[in-house]
Amino acid sequence: MKQVTILGATGSIGRSTLDVIRRHPDRYAVFALTAHSRVDVLLEQIPLFRPAVVVVGSPEAARQLEAELDGTCRPEILWGEAALCQVASDDAVDCVMAAIVGAAGLAPALAAAQSGKQVLLANKEALVMSGALFMDTVRAGKASLLPIDSEHNAVFQALPAGFRGLADEGVRRILLTASGGPFRTREPASLVDVTPEEACAHPNWVMGRKISVDSATMMNKGLEVIEAHWLFGAGADQIQVVIHPQSVIHSMVEYTDGSVLAQLGNPDMRTPIAHALAYPERIDSGVASLDLFEVARLDFERPDLARFPCLGLAFEALRAGGSAAAVLNAANEVAVEAFLERRLGFTGIADVCRRVLEHFGTAAVCSLQDVFDADRAARELARRAIAA
Ligand code: NAD
Ligand code: MG
Repeated sequence: MKQVTILGATGSIGRSTLDVIRRHPDRYAVFALTAHSRVDVLLEQIPLFRPAVVVVGSPEAARQLEAELDGTCRPEILWGEAALCQVASDDAVDCVMAAIVGAAGLAPALAAAQSGKQVLLANKEALVMSGALFMDTVRAGKASLLPIDSEHNAVFQALPAGFRGLADEGVRRILLTASGGPFRTREPASLVDVTPEEACAHPNWVMGRKISVDSATMMNKGLEVIEAHWLFGAGADQIQVVIHPQSVIHSMVEYTDGSVLAQLGNPDMRTPIAHALAYPERIDSGVASLDLFEVARLDFERPDLARFPCLGLAFEALRAGGSAAAVLNAANEVAVEAFLERRLGFTGIADVCRRVLEHFGTAAVCSLQDVFDADRAARELARRAIAA
């Protein structure tokens, strides 16, 4: 029986994870569920999964949960970041799904890595912010890191088991596929006044609001380029983004002999989640067979950086190294939040990110404190730029 902690249990990835776990009561037990504010969703999840511990974001949410839980299942209820780190590193836990969105997920994901857990990483922002430190922590803690992001999970599946590095395995390039999001074919000039609802209406994937906006700007793919760099040791020139509107090929690995290996499937996150949960075995995920006759064709396009400036900014940050990716991530989080609250236009997201990245450039990162300092300074400048 594998004991699992799900960080961000009430989100899109968290709920998909519980859907897979529910199919295999003989294999997985839930040790802890965490959520920021959705007490209503937790109240549905707790009797079904009977966690030992539940962590929420505030003392008010903890009190509300305590008051509304019925008597049959009463987990320990905690709140705050220290509690997130505790349930991510508890001795009773084997596996941690890191599915909190944004920088808030960094500390608990690191706690899981440090304590040698099997870490299922959906929270790409954590790796983007602290890349080298995160990977060092995984190694030092003897954790195993399994990518949940569908592209990186696909690459992982197309690489040999016991992967030793791109050069050793004869890999030439990683081909990271991207749907292009809802605005793939829109004229850039027409994007100025798109609404949060339009930006969140993704053609192929149902996801949380932040990643949905990131997909519309293609910052998501930019963050994924940086994520691929850290996970697989790929240089910026070894990662090619390929727009593939059907989202059936989840990514590819090109070898020096010209072979290109791809992982395909329906666009449903339960496939990478089930892959990582059971690795190296395979289990049912609830995802239907891929109907290639229905798909009928696979298209590919080169990304247009004029249309998607955020993708270009992410490559710049990756090449700059040091704190640049943390700065870009922080500016983007603040800008996306402002866009979702209608305080910033859609094209303003890229403008804010560019201004903040240009202002700070890059600085050396020697400690987690350096990462948090870069993150905080970038957020402050982004907020000022938006308010001005
Ligand atoms: P979501 O918004 O649906 O859920 C986010 C979860 O994080 C919720 O459970 C919420 O309670 C929790 N959370 C939010 N802010 C928090 C805070 N300050 N402290 C503690 N918990 C907090 O997001 P999602 O779509 O499930 O995405 C989660 C992560 O997975 C993101 O990093 C995203 O980039 C990544 N991801 C998601 C998908 C997808 O299909 N949804 C695919 C690939 C990667
Ligand atoms: Mg992805």
